[in-house]
Amino acid sequence: MQHKKVGNLTFLTFPDLEHHQGLLHAISTRQGGVSSDNYSSLNLGFHVGDKHDRVKRNHQIVSQSLRFDLSSLVSCQQVHHHSIACIDKRYHKKDCFLPDNALPETDGLVTDVPGITLMTRYADCVPLLFYSPKTHTVALAHAGWKGTLGHIGPKTVELLTREFKCQRQDIHAALGPSIGPCCYEISNKMAVQAAKELVKGEAYSKELPGRKLLFNLWQANKEELYRAGIREENLSCAKICTSCNVDQFFSYRKEKQLTGRFGAFIGLREQ
Ligand SMILES: [Zn+2]
Repeated sequence: MQHKKVGNLTFLTFPDLEHHQGLLHAISTRQGGVSSDNYSSLNLGFHVGDKHDRVKRNHQIVSQSLRFDLSSLVSCQQVHHHSIACIDKRYHKKDCFLPDNALPETDGLVTDVPGITLMTRYADCVPLLFYSPKTHTVALAHAGWKGTLGHIGPKTVELLTREFKCQRQDIHAALGPSIGPCCYEISNKMAVQAAKELVKGEAYSKELPGRKLLFNLWQANKEELYRAGIREENLSCAKICTSCNVDQFFSYRKEKQLTGRFGAFIGLREQ
């Protein structure tokens, strides 16, 4: 990934998604915001115990740095499920980044409307970003444990092909910073569940001495996307563990649940 400094903020971008005319994409980090303590400082989560006005101000700071219209930023109330919403032009200028307006019970967003920016929020779960250059369609999905086992990645690809006429071989996909195979400990019960729900699902769990089980969410999501028809050359993975890098990212596990959220952003600029 590439680090980009804009004023006090640092964003991460994927080389594979750069240089597409009109495409905006970024992963935010912790620095440059106005929140304090465990939310320090660029917390974008409204529901985590931080002050509403500070979180709102952090969204303003991000929108100014990335140069998108904040009122046309669309987010969803992520519930670790696998519902994906199609965002049309009615969502323009509706302040859907605010908790009352965010799409309820939704973990994925898709749009082809220029001027709308999609956003999902993270602290360990895997951000999935999608872009189809031929149809100018973008998508985001929130793939934590439940989302991954619920096949949210392949479901997003399915929706892109069905509703937006994208071709699987043209879709670019990227996995953002999230808890890595170095740190993501799971229970025996979860390993059994993964083996049942995912093709070759037993391959993603690794037992360490002391019977500690670690799970590879990155590999699981990558294999799921390959099976959904994404080409290997079109799939990027940040390979950045949030739990190992709490100076840069919020980590729900490492910070014992009291932490903020960083954001994944993707959208089409109005030409
Ligand atoms: Zn780690």
